[in-house]
Amino acid sequence: MNTIHKTDEAIGFIPLPNDAGKPITVIGTDAIRDNFDEMCLQQAVNSRMAPGVTDVILNPDGHVGYGAPIGCVMVSPTHIYPGPVGVDIKCSMSLLQLDIPEDAILDKVTRRALINAIVERTPTGAGRGQRSVKKGRRVNSELGFLAVTEGATERVCDALGIPAEWADRCEDSTHRGHDGTYDALRSRLEFILDTGRVRNFGDKVGQLGSYGGGNHFGECEITRVVDRPSARETADVFGLKDGHVSFLSHCGSRGLGNLLAQGQFRDLEKKFRDWATPFPAGDKQLVYAPLGTPEADAYIDDMSIGANFATVNHLLINALVLEAFQEILPGCDGQLVYFISHNIAREEIVAGKKAWVHRKGATRAVPGGHFALAGTRFAETGHPILLPGNPRDGSVVMVAEGGAERTAWSVNHGAGRRLGRKNAARTLDQKSVDADFDASDILTNCRKYPIDEAPDAYKDFPEVLRSVEAAGLARQVARLQARFVIKD
Ligand code: 5GP
Ligand code: MN
Ligand code: MN
Repeated sequence: MNTIHKTDEAIGFIPLPNDAGKPITVIGTDAIRDNFDEMCLQQAVNSRMAPGVTDVILNPDGHVGYGAPIGCVMVSPTHIYPGPVGVDIKCSMSLLQLDIPEDAILDKVTRRALINAIVERTPTGAGRGQRSVKKGRRVNSELGFLAVTEGATERVCDALGIPAEWADRCEDSTHRGHDGTYDALRSRLEFILDTGRVRNFGDKVGQLGSYGGGNHFGECEITRVVDRPSARETADVFGLKDGHVSFLSHCGSRGLGNLLAQGQFRDLEKKFRDWATPFPAGDKQLVYAPLGTPEADAYIDDMSIGANFATVNHLLINALVLEAFQEILPGCDGQLVYFISHNIAREEIVAGKKAWVHRKGATRAVPGGHFALAGTRFAETGHPILLPGNPRDGSVVMVAEGGAERTAWSVNHGAGRRLGRKNAARTLDQKSVDADFDASDILTNCRKYPIDEAPDAYKDFPEVLRSVEAAGLARQVARLQARFVIKD
């Protein structure tokens, strides 16, 4: 049994066996802390004890994942871990702020027309791409190659009809290879295609501009800026418009990212077996590569290719969603607020030292004045943090505070699952899930809302937010109130 020792209202720690180093930091109020399951805590301990790991933070949305818990941060100055990035490389959130007042989408007919205009451009569902929709953008292999080896550069944005200025509203608009060059990614991708590790590349890049299935979604919101002077000022810098329509998207690197990640797990597992190296805590999901080795280089390159896919995917989705709004409500305009990942490893400075920060279902949270944002449009305020909750209880935009220093400049990535998919299907009732949506006047594109995605399958979002704020990690800038949801 692992015990969490409480130190503050919403901060606790798990000591390591034999006090073997810095304890695991746990964020959460009593209600959250008492409900982590033992397996999740054990995964946090396994991750913390794994080679080269110097810090692990478990966030209030934490729950069991593969190897490392979903909802954790893992820091290593010497090793890279593919597991804590996961199979959906650079799964991310993006928010588009429109200049449409909320009254314009009050009636259901307009909202239904918007849903149709959006799904005609951005397909949902496993394996589906731009070719399966009427008004999509065709992306050929050549343009696809460029997009995944350099991300949202000016020429890629131009070719796809993405406003080039959206690139500076991205946590990272481009990812380079292990040696800091795009060339590394080009030769790696050529190798991947030549050796048949990724087949049907044309179909894979044809998925740029699509949501995919499962937990991914597009959601129309009303932006409600928090009534606090500092929140209003920050909202202005972010480009948030109080009482106006916005659109929140959640998805990642689709089939390409998945293939790249699976290939890496296979390669590394095989190497561990060949070398008779034990998996950390006996868990093959915690395979790793020491930085500077060919294995680490190959992983960083594959992760970057997947990450570039996810970046261009999100920006294209936002361009298509804006186009859909303009079809239904002519004359309207929109602006990307931010695009930020919750499944990625980044090289950052933590406690004065260079380290790879793996965010597994966690979001970067850097406050204003921090050197990491110097020269960006968010240097003074801190960057926007986009946190989905659930359609019924809403989602939020936050901004980091100084307290995030103790969590390697990170917060959670949402509410986090309370019930596994099977458990949700067994215990929740379809009729009351659908009635919940009707009662909140939230439309969806689904005939029946997927029961394993129901709001009650997730943790209590207000309690999660209380945890983040009480721990001094971040504050709310705006709430997002759902008006319709697009899910597979
Ligand atoms: P992930 O699936 O990436 O682990 O988690 C994303 C987070 O999104 C979940 O923890 C949950 O809080 C949130 N979420 C899941 N489905 C929806 C949805 O349809 N709408 C909103 N606003 N949030 C959602
Ligand atoms: Mn994902
Ligand atoms: Mn995700």
